[in-house]
Amino acid sequence: MNFEVGQIIKMKKPHPCGNNSWEILRVGMDFRLRCTWCNHQVMIPRTTVEKSFKGFVEKA
Ligand SMILES: [Zn+2]
Repeated sequence: MNFEVGQIIKMKKPHPCGNNSWEILRVGMDFRLRCTWCNHQVMIPRTTVEKSFKGFVEKA
């Protein structure tokens, strides 16, 4: 899987705010993701991102 900064991805587990799409802010051993609804940022290990990855979201 090839992830790039700026992509919007869907995860299997939604954020507590109910949103399920995340913008990639940083890639590496850990990914920094931003919830596109509430702007909350999280650091998630790449392996976890790959496991719960559901698909890319087309940018409007
Ligand atoms: Zn959120």
